[in-house]
Amino acid sequence: MTSLPAGNVLDWQAFGEEIVERFRAILRLNTSNPPGNETLVAEYLRSVLESEGIECTLVGPTPDRQSLIARLRGDGSASPLLLMSHTDVVPAEADKWRFDPFGAEIDDGFIYARGTLDMKHMVAMELMVMLLLKRSGVQLKRDVIYMAAADEEAGGNMGAGWVADHYPELIQAEYALNEGGGECMEVNGRRYFTVQTAEKGGAAVRLRAHGKPGHASMPHDDNAIVKLGRVLAGLQGRQLPVHFNATFRAFIEGLAQGQPPEVASALRAVLADVVGADAALARLPLPESEKLYLNAMMRNTVTPTMLRAGSRVNVIPSVAEADLDCRILPGWTLERFHEELRTLIGDEIELESLVTNSPPLESDFASPLIDVIKEVLHEADEEAHVVPVLLTGGTDAKRIAHLGIQVFGFAPMLYEGEGSNDGIHGHNERISVRSMHWGTRVLYEVVARFVTQG
Ligand SMILES: [Zn+2]
Repeated sequence: MTSLPAGNVLDWQAFGEEIVERFRAILRLNTSNPPGNETLVAEYLRSVLESEGIECTLVGPTPDRQSLIARLRGDGSASPLLLMSHTDVVPAEADKWRFDPFGAEIDDGFIYARGTLDMKHMVAMELMVMLLLKRSGVQLKRDVIYMAAADEEAGGNMGAGWVADHYPELIQAEYALNEGGGECMEVNGRRYFTVQTAEKGGAAVRLRAHGKPGHASMPHDDNAIVKLGRVLAGLQGRQLPVHFNATFRAFIEGLAQGQPPEVASALRAVLADVVGADAALARLPLPESEKLYLNAMMRNTVTPTMLRAGSRVNVIPSVAEADLDCRILPGWTLERFHEELRTLIGDEIELESLVTNSPPLESDFASPLIDVIKEVLHEADEEAHVVPVLLTGGTDAKRIAHLGIQVFGFAPMLYEGEGSNDGIHGHNERISVRSMHWGTRVLYEVVARFVTQG
């Protein structure tokens, strides 16, 4: 990989040591959410950034839940790029770990700690990008904004959402880089780097059946539990219809381009028509876990997760409820989704929406930032392909997309087992030192080229 123009020869050896040292310092700050205490990381970041002359602001709803925002100024000829991350982590069951989850121990080339993959690696890599841009003294065409936000793991209302509501001007940008992609995945022995361009929306609902109460010793045919049960049984195996979206099409086409002809045509068969998509998916020579992912990318999903009814075994209750986790595709509204869901559950029971603000998102894969990402990844790994992906869950991108920011998930990581996502929220979460070095360098190249090209 070449480094920046402007005659700056970057000392990647020294930066490699610095990234690991700063990364471990961040990992050792316990920001388990709840309660969060993300101000610990925000203060650390402020001390590092301000010591190198980069302006910072700490904002948040309470003293303990501060998010940090920093800015490098460009010449204003192009709109800002936002480097975003979250500083909170999910709690860890310390007794089930090989090492202290907040010790950041290094063993056999891997750093172990809660947050190594989700997502303090990006907090540290983006921090290094800010420092390196500043030190290189290169002329920027775009402002580069850095946001290390609190509270993502609990929905972001005290973090990125709070910043977007109270200080939108601090993070207003044309593009953002975030978590959700950047991993290397192998499909049928070929390597693909992902860039997340879309997110499904949350659309959880509560189903409520009403019936006639009474003594259980005299059964009748208007039992709320039985009614609800009939509807839930209908959800098993009866999936909602297939709908293709731009990201899914580009993902399948991107996979096909890296495969031998017979696998490529099997992949393209999935896109041939919505009616035959399920059968074509079933025929693909891929592991079941990858097929489940593809299935979730091409339809709205409904998954029963909670049930409530009754208080005593001898009393027929008048109400039975089930909560369903539902995820909707880009371009869908809650109203349209409820109409589609009605075709599955019928009209006999009530449907109540449990979400207010979790819209699906989709950014355009045809973008100058994606072009730079492809260029840099191709230099780093000639054989790798770059594909857009649709995240079936959610990130802080949902909290800021309404500001008109195109958000891409790109936290570059090497595939060495640790990049396989298994460790996220699990025991012994870890990342390799090699991946941190490589990822920082790739991210720096992408950002430096993009913000100097304009
Ligand atoms: Zn995360």
